[in-house]
Amino acid sequence: MCRSPSRLVRELPGDFVGTALADYTESRVPSDVQIADYTLLRCTQCELEFSDPPEPAADAFYEWLDRVQEYYPGERWEWGEVARQVSEHVRRHGQCRVLELGAGAGFFLNQLKTEYGAQATAIERSEDAAAKLRAQGIECLTPQQAASALTHRTFDFVVAFHCLEHVADPLSMIVDMNRWAGPDGRIFVSVPYSPMFYESQWFDPLNHPPHHMTRWNQHALAALARQIKGEAQLYMPPALSLTARARMALCIVYQGPRWYLHRRRALLVPLQHPLRYLRELFVQARRDRVNAQAASDVVLAEIRR
Ligand SMILES: [Zn+2]
Repeated sequence: MCRSPSRLVRELPGDFVGTALADYTESRVPSDVQIADYTLLRCTQCELEFSDPPEPAADAFYEWLDRVQEYYPGERWEWGEVARQVSEHVRRHGQCRVLELGAGAGFFLNQLKTEYGAQATAIERSEDAAAKLRAQGIECLTPQQAASALTHRTFDFVVAFHCLEHVADPLSMIVDMNRWAGPDGRIFVSVPYSPMFYESQWFDPLNHPPHHMTRWNQHALAALARQIKGEAQLYMPPALSLTARARMALCIVYQGPRWYLHRRRALLVPLQHPLRYLRELFVQARRDRVNAQAASDVVLAEIRR
C-alpha cells in the first residue's frame, strides 16, 4: 500500500489452510473449493500484512463457509458507535445520506433507515445479500455499478465494516471512499485488530488468506489515512483483562476453537498448564497499546481529512 519494501511473515500452503479451516469449522472442505498457496508479507514501514497473490477466495469458498457457519453477524460493537454519530447528524441537519461498502444483509443500514430516517445506499457484491437489501427498501449497487452510478454523488457518511481486510486493493477502496465522502463527509472503517490476542498461540484460518487479504494494526491504519492526506482516529471497545486473554489463548490450544462450549473445564486450564499460562501472561502484557489501553480485537477508524 505505501510502496515500501516488505519481508516474509510466513508461507501459507493451501493444504495447511484447508486443514486449519476443516478443524475450525468441524467440517470437511469440499473438493470443489480450491485453496491456493499464499505467502504472507509485512511492510517494513507501515506494518501492514498482506497476501501474495492478492486474490481473495472464489465464490465456492464463501458458499461453503456460509453453509457451515453464520457469516453475517446480527450485531457489531462499532455499529453503535457510528449510529450515534449518524443520529447526531440527523438531529442537526434533519437528514443524513449514508453509503455502506460491503453492506451484507443490511442490518446496519436498516437500523439507520428505520430509527433515524437516514437515506441508505449499499454497495454489495453478493447477489443473495443484495436481494435482502432491496427487500428492505435500501438502494443497492454492485461494485461495478457504483463506479459509474456514484460519479456525481457524495454522502454524509461513507462506512465499511469488516470489508477492507477482504479486498485485494485497500488503497483503491479508500480512494473511492474519499471521493464518495466529498469534502465534508465522514469516513469510517472497521477491521480486526491484528494479531488478535489469541493468535499468539493459535493460527486463525479466518484471519488469513484466502479469507482476509490484509491484516491491520494502528500503524497500517495510519498509513491508510495518509494515502488520502488524512489521519486515523481509532476507537476500540475495552480489551479483555490480561488474565482472561492469557487463559482464553491457551483454551483454544488445549480445547480447540470451540472451547467456550465447555466453559467450566476452561477455567481449569491455567491450573493444568501453569508454566505456559505464566509465559502467556508475559506475552499478553506486551500486547499493542492503542489510545493508552491494551488493544482489543476490533478497531474502528475514522479517517479525518
Ligand atoms: Zn506499507
